[in-house]
Amino acid sequence: MNYDAIFETAVAALKSEKRYRVFADLERIAGRFPHAVWRRDGAEREIVVWCSNDYLGMGQHPDVVDAMVKAAQSMGAGAGGTRNISGTNHPLVELEAELADLHGKEAALTFTSGFVSNEAAISTLARILPNCLILSDELNHASMIEGIRRSGCEKKVFRHNDLDHLEELLKAAGPERAKLIAFESVYSMDGDIAPIAAIADLAERYGALTYIDEVHAVGMYGPRGGGICDRDGLMHRIDVIEGTLAKAFGALGGYITGKAALVDAVRSYAPGFIFTTALPPAVAAAARSS
Ligand code: PLP
Repeated sequence: MNYDAIFETAVAALKSEKRYRVFADLERIAGRFPHAVWRRDGAEREIVVWCSNDYLGMGQHPDVVDAMVKAAQSMGAGAGGTRNISGTNHPLVELEAELADLHGKEAALTFTSGFVSNEAAISTLARILPNCLILSDELNHASMIEGIRRSGCEKKVFRHNDLDHLEELLKAAGPERAKLIAFESVYSMDGDIAPIAAIADLAERYGALTYIDEVHAVGMYGPRGGGICDRDGLMHRIDVIEGTLAKAFGALGGYITGKAALVDAVRSYAPGFIFTTALPPAVAAAARSS
């Protein structure tokens, strides 16, 4: 078998569909957000990056950079292992306490990215719940869809932000069945916002667990940057609030927050949490500072 030819054909297909991507070689200039240096064909040019998700430039804030540098200087660059085997670095312990407090929840758990947090948490929660039905907004992010797939549970997709359709599916599932509603607050493609209070009303009426992705909202909305649920006083009405440390918080990593037992179950059962090296102390310190 000609393996090379197979991969070349796969890439050629993207090129012929004009979907092949070339990434820009960039160097962001700390202190001059959103300016960067673009290197191409041996030349350098200063450009403005309007498509960063470091929405507020917090990744360059002097306090955030300082926290990262100090933590790296005192604790080193890496995390030193998976948490199961090597324990948790102290800045990560502090960060999880901060995140739980930010969202008004009993506990928080961090992951190496927002993608991993959705994939690991949704798949694990749904697998633990008996005969769980997942109700998923049709515009949910790829990371949530991956989590749903990996759970192996039945899924029903409701039309985007369509409360009538969601109610129809909840009603059809019946009151006895475990149900998980997975949705976002600010949708990544359209930038529109979910009717969170009304979804929480439906979840209460039909006995469903709610899981919201606030990745594009944390650090941006609410009196303390807890997202849309924080802004609208709804954090206590949602079971799991998921977020990223990589966008408005300007660092790296993802997390879930919720009741202690639920978070402990994910900590104890999710392969995407257990079998991977923890976030390094410098990243945790930067995120907490942000
Ligand atoms: N959820 C949504 C809605 C996103 O748009 C993204 C984008 O990256 C993620 C999750 C993943 O977050 P992260 O970049 O931290 O992996």
